[in-house]
Amino acid sequence: MAQRPGFPIKLDQKTKSSPAKVQVTQTAPLHPQGLGLDSSAVRQRMVQKLAAQGLKDPMVLQAMGTVERHRFVESALVNQAYEDTSLPIGLGQTISKPNVVARMMELLREGAAGKLGRVLEIGTGCGYQAALLSQIATEVYSIERLKGLHEKARANLRHFRLANVHLLFGDGMLGYPQGAPYAAIISAAGGENLPQAWLDQLAMGGRLVAPTVTTHGQQALMVVDKTPEGLKQTVLEAVHFVPLKSGIS
Ligand code: SAH
Repeated sequence: MAQRPGFPIKLDQKTKSSPAKVQVTQTAPLHPQGLGLDSSAVRQRMVQKLAAQGLKDPMVLQAMGTVERHRFVESALVNQAYEDTSLPIGLGQTISKPNVVARMMELLREGAAGKLGRVLEIGTGCGYQAALLSQIATEVYSIERLKGLHEKARANLRHFRLANVHLLFGDGMLGYPQGAPYAAIISAAGGENLPQAWLDQLAMGGRLVAPTVTTHGQQALMVVDKTPEGLKQTVLEAVHFVPLKSGIS
């Protein structure tokens, strides 16, 4: 596959004056502390399991080994934070299994040299994947439609001080045109179809990865590449993501 385009980090004036909320924090390294899950050994074990399951992108594995998943789950669930299981994050939503998160990021990065440029994530949830994306992309725009989760993600991410993560409260089905075009778009919620806005906001040479209902009525991972010859769609394995819903709440 052709090399992905990079994008300037600076946004134009239009984005700055956007009514959507954008969080910009100071740069600082991700650093561990507290809870006994602070040792990077616990994450390295998770990374080894992911590698044994066939995940191999070094940048993705590095991100999985760096971001502390236990900081994104309820205190009652922290002991399960590094198991390959999805976990509830409130308001009926779930954080995906590490394996699925890593798989989707590997698909996003496939064929890309170095970090991705600007990435759009639909469904911030608790913010875990946004933190991971911050390690593999120059800029991350992450949209959440539930105010409670948008605020939870903001609180969770404060600790990490990721200057390249921009949290937005809004309907992700509309994408976020102010940040477009995106080198990659990733959805953590599955709809009946891929919203046209996502396809429009994807850069030429860019890739979209999203769970979508297939013609068989089952949800599967969908990969769409935007090429000069048109959109190329690939249907991959069956998955179980929460539904993509329109509007905000
Ligand atoms: N990436 C998240 C996963 C959250 S689950 C994490 O790491 O925690 C998927 C999220 O998608 C839910 O929080 C849900 O509210 C959100 N969602 C569903 N439809 C949406 C839409 N149209 N716009 C933005 N977020 C949406």
